[in-house]
Amino acid sequence: MKKLEDLILTYKDFPKKGIDFKDVLEILQYPDIFQDLILKMCSNQLLKNADAIISIDARGFIFGSAVALESSKPMIVARKPGKLPGHILTREYDLEYGKNSLSIQSNALKRFNSFVIVDDLLATGGTVNCVSSLLQAQNKKILSLITVVELKELRGRAKLDFPVQSVISL
Ligand code: AMP
Repeated sequence: MKKLEDLILTYKDFPKKGIDFKDVLEILQYPDIFQDLILKMCSNQLLKNADAIISIDARGFIFGSAVALESSKPMIVARKPGKLPGHILTREYDLEYGKNSLSIQSNALKRFNSFVIVDDLLATGGTVNCVSSLLQAQNKKILSLITVVELKELRGRAKLDFPVQSVISL
């Protein structure tokens, strides 16, 4: 009988030498384990107080939309460059393996004041920090990050000024 931990596969030196890539996609092949994971993510008390979820491109969308559905919360998205139409707010950040930028549609923010961020994995914290600074610059509140995996050694949570819930800490 598989457990959630068994479904986080490690690929050495992907996408660059020195990176141990944690692949969470196998979870989706086991609906019972996926469902149990989503229920754990939804048990976050701060989620109840949030106006909406913001999930991060691209694996964050998988978990974010399931959490949104299960918790009956609205969801908006932060996306990689060139993906979002309309007026967007953009910020660049450093990744464990390179640079990137994320954008949010400014229209999507209008109805909501407080957010919980959902992503698949917290590494250095640069990605989540980028999303939170984008939102905080618009006077929005971040109540929590909910993530499937946290790579503890990279101390990403030290970069964040809100609580972090990770289902698996490696
Ligand atoms: P970071 O900004 O360093 O916290 O990186 C988090 C984002 O990059 C997440 O959206 C992950 O999907 C991805 N990521 C970073 N490091 C890894 C890793 N070792 N394994 C899998 N995904 C990673």
